[in-house]
Amino acid sequence: MRFKLTIVLLWFIAIVLPAQNNAKVYDLLNQLKSTQHDTAKSTLLLQLAHAYYPSDVEKAIGKANLALLLAENYKDNRKVFKALDILIRCNYEAKSDLNTAIRYLSRAKNIDTSFVSITDRASLLGHEGHIYVQIGDYAKAQHAFFEQLKLYEYTKDRQGIAKVNYDLGALYFSQADYLTTVGYYSKAFDLFSNIADIRGKVEALNALGSTYQKLNNFEKSNQYCSDALYLSESINDLQLTAKIHLNVGNAQAALGNIEGAEIHFNTALEMGKSLYDQLIIANVYHALAQTAQKTGKKKIAIDFYNQAIDAAVLVNNRQLLRDIYNTLYQYYDEAGDYSEAYGYLRRLTAVKDSLSSEERNKQFINDRIRFETEQKEEENKQLRAKGLESDLTIQKQKALNYTSLAVLAFVISCTLLLYNAFRQKKKYNEELELQVSKRTEQLRVSNEELTTFNHKLEQSNNELERFAYIASHDLKSPLRNIISFLNLIQRKVRNQEDKDLKEYLRFATENAKQMNVLIQDVLEFSRVESSHDVPSENVDLNESMMMVVQNLQETMQSKNAIVYADALPVVHSNSVQMLQLFQNLVGNGIKYNKSYQPEVKISHKKMNGHHLFCIQDNGIGIDTQYHDQIFEMFKRLHTREEYNGTGIGLAICKKIVSGMGGEIWLDSEPNEGAKFYFTVPAN
Ligand code: ADP
Repeated sequence: MRFKLTIVLLWFIAIVLPAQNNAKVYDLLNQLKSTQHDTAKSTLLLQLAHAYYPSDVEKAIGKANLALLLAENYKDNRKVFKALDILIRCNYEAKSDLNTAIRYLSRAKNIDTSFVSITDRASLLGHEGHIYVQIGDYAKAQHAFFEQLKLYEYTKDRQGIAKVNYDLGALYFSQADYLTTVGYYSKAFDLFSNIADIRGKVEALNALGSTYQKLNNFEKSNQYCSDALYLSESINDLQLTAKIHLNVGNAQAALGNIEGAEIHFNTALEMGKSLYDQLIIANVYHALAQTAQKTGKKKIAIDFYNQAIDAAVLVNNRQLLRDIYNTLYQYYDEAGDYSEAYGYLRRLTAVKDSLSSEERNKQFINDRIRFETEQKEEENKQLRAKGLESDLTIQKQKALNYTSLAVLAFVISCTLLLYNAFRQKKKYNEELELQVSKRTEQLRVSNEELTTFNHKLEQSNNELERFAYIASHDLKSPLRNIISFLNLIQRKVRNQEDKDLKEYLRFATENAKQMNVLIQDVLEFSRVESSHDVPSENVDLNESMMMVVQNLQETMQSKNAIVYADALPVVHSNSVQMLQLFQNLVGNGIKYNKSYQPEVKISHKKMNGHHLFCIQDNGIGIDTQYHDQIFEMFKRLHTREEYNGTGIGLAICKKIVSGMGGEIWLDSEPNEGAKFYFTVPAN
């Protein structure tokens, strides 16, 4: 944790430390060397490179190269770009190594600048412009500077804008388009003035001075250069001041103020010497030589020329050397010193060769850049084409994606709807299930109650039947005694004249007999048991019917009745009960019949696992309202005077049919005869 904090702290310090804190930054870098934090390291290395530039260009290059390596390693394009920027500057500004600068420039131009800041991109365009100026491709240089200007205008970087205007001035100066040059330098001066950039103002004024010299306007040149000199005091830049002194000297020399010019030249020379700036020294000696030559001080002039040559050789300034050699060749040639003249001519030729080879070299570099640029443009073209293709693919993909999204949205909506419906259905089902379970519970409870009730009913029925049986059975014996004694009394009073007594006796005997019949019927009813409790067998109902007709023979004859029967089935049942059932129904059909010839038809049908029987007569019929009541015990619709009976026959029929698991009912209207139906389960 402490280690990480240290790294962050060091990184922060490295970012905010100004360049003059080189030693401190270097110390921090040493501490970081043992760490693996490439990001922090490369940041520090870049800081160091800037700190070393321009005082120690080689070290600056070393640090920038290291930063470049690290940044490339972790693919930080921003830092790669920054490292290349400082490397380009080191190589073309300080070392004049155009080849290396161009190599780095090509690398920088191939970087994806998406994450590179506008300021850094503008800076690189500036380097590009300067490099093209150096190799003489002014059109490309102009293009680079204009691009740079656009970026600065976009970011409203006023110093950047002023600087580009200055560089454009220098560009047109190189092309000897001095009027345009004046325009850009003047604009640069105004812009530097607006932002109170004194150094910028000084440089712009000095540049204007140089340009006016080219335009042979030495008055103006002197004026601008003097202004530059005046302002330069406040910026304490010896090199710049030395150049301005040189320019002021040149202007004044041109204006004929040789004395004043020499003062400025000497000041510039002193400054150049104190800076060990051989370029300034060479230029000042050259100016001194020209002034001396102009004023006829030939020997002094040659001495200055030679010192200029020494200094120019040191910095390999071949243009200056060419000018000096040419001047000296002509001088000695005119003086008739052909030996010296020849010597300078040879040196002049050599330096010209070297310059033209440099020109060729520049041309070569230019061609190479052009080639690389074309290649890059071709690559860009291809990339654009690919981009277009991929754009199309992306569009298709997008369309596909949108479709997929729409489908997905549709599916999701459907799913949500279904889910909602499912939830509602589930809720509804749950409610339904709840209601069903409640209802089921209610039904279960009422079923239980019903079962209990049925059980109780069955118990009470059983008890009632047992009571009826016991009562009728026990009543039979005393009733028989009563009837016997009544018969005895009747015999005793047979010869008496008392008619009332005889009538009373007859009445008592009849009622006792009726009572006997009733008790007999109750007993009979009580004896009818359900099919579970009676022995069952295969009963051929045709035989049962024959016995019925036999039993009813007497009645049938007395009433001239006919009985028809279909072929009847064999039914698994109790033969006594089946006889009772058919006999009761057929007997009633004959009994409750006023027809001349009573007819009873017995028909049969097998349906739905049941035997359906119908006993139809052409008798008196029964009103619909009594259809249920006539199956109750002792229920009769007529008096005994009309039709003899006890009202127990149909009750017995119902008991037998129910005991077998069947049903009994009728269809009848008064005077329309009656149809009694009953079912018994088929085997
Ligand atoms: P019972 O014949 O001894 O009176 P039932 O139980 O057999 O007793 O008959 C009950 C009553 O139903 C009868 O009194 C009669 O009024 C009526 N009944 C029964 N069968 C017929 C029939 N075939 N036609 C008309 N009435 C009938």
